[in-house]
Amino acid sequence: MTLAKVPVALGDRSYEVLIGAGLLGGAGAHIAPLLKRPKVAIVSDAHVADLHLTTLTASLDAAGISHSNLSLPQGESTKSWPHLQEVVHWLLSEQIERNDIVIAFGGGVIGDLVGFAASILRRGVRFVQIPTSLLAQVDSSVGGKTGINAPHGKNLIGAFHQPSLVLADIAVLGTLTARDFLAGYGEVAKYGLLGDAGFFSWLEANGPALASGDEALRLEAVKRSVAMKAGIVARDETEQGERALLNLGHTFCHALEAATGYSGRLLHGEGVAIGCALAFETSARLGLCSQEAPSRVRAHLKDMKMKTDLSDIAGDLPDAEGLIALMMQDKKVSAGTLNFIMARDIGSAFVTADVDTAVLKSVLTDALATRA
Ligand code: NAD
Repeated sequence: MTLAKVPVALGDRSYEVLIGAGLLGGAGAHIAPLLKRPKVAIVSDAHVADLHLTTLTASLDAAGISHSNLSLPQGESTKSWPHLQEVVHWLLSEQIERNDIVIAFGGGVIGDLVGFAASILRRGVRFVQIPTSLLAQVDSSVGGKTGINAPHGKNLIGAFHQPSLVLADIAVLGTLTARDFLAGYGEVAKYGLLGDAGFFSWLEANGPALASGDEALRLEAVKRSVAMKAGIVARDETEQGERALLNLGHTFCHALEAATGYSGRLLHGEGVAIGCALAFETSARLGLCSQEAPSRVRAHLKDMKMKTDLSDIAGDLPDAEGLIALMMQDKKVSAGTLNFIMARDIGSAFVTADVDTAVLKSVLTDALATRA
């Protein structure tokens, strides 16, 4: 098995992201050296558990590690107070101690929820991320952002809590629906767009084959994405500066997710892709980048058969002013000013508070008009 290792350099909280096809079958051997006693608690979503839990538990058995599992309903609404309480109380009833390890086994929903539960359980226990969706492998499992949603908006309650290890098995991506895979690809494309034009060109050449199932290309895409995120997180763990670039497209995305009620109408990664296209369009209208840049972004998303435009979202949406009001709920609002991630070119994003609301409104008005 080709095994890639990406270090996340954070001093005494450093850890490795291991990436390979079939890694799940050897998870126990990778986790065993971290344990003070041979016992773990696994939290997964019910769908992932049905598909892949036996492979994980067999590997723990083979390594002599005892285990128990809690399966939660799949979907974004699981990232909530009631399920946080359920996880924490279950871990306490399982007598998970300060020195034990909790395993988050699933997509970004499980990773965020379980990471947060681990951060508050007994004032903090260690956890291992075993991300099973493309989105979780390339993004949410790395970097230590954990949390749940509030009625006021997404991810508004949480903590920074770094995992002790991340195990990304490329083979489990094979059971994702095409829609979930492509949603995760939205975050992959984001890395090229924000900071690596060469990677974006590579994706333009290889994206369709990667989506069709080529594991070598999938491994390369996950490795490059994780390496980029690890570098940014190592330089700016708590988002005082550069880490904000990872939010390219997210201000638009969070407004669209709120407008669609965090429902199946729009998956997070789909919102990121549409948000990236809107961020490039806004950058072009502000004269920050050429008009070719947003055209190229949209061309690639369309080539991948991804949601690209507001017209790809079914059902009603608020008008431009309504969407801007939702954007103001974003965590990146500081003293009433919204910070945006804009771009000078593909691979060259930057943070700015200097986005004229009239331009923003015209971009959204035109984008909404395509829905007629
Ligand atoms: P998710 O966890 O809901 O997973 C998407 C769907 O895929 C679910 O239905 C799940 O059951 C299914 N699934 C997962 N792995 C599977 C597999 N191997 N085979 C078949 N089905 C599988 O959502 P997601 O897209 O993984 O993550 C989205 C979440 O991540 C959002 O809540 C978002 O806010 C969060 N996020 C967090 C960060 C961070 O830095 N912490 C970064 C980006 C996104």
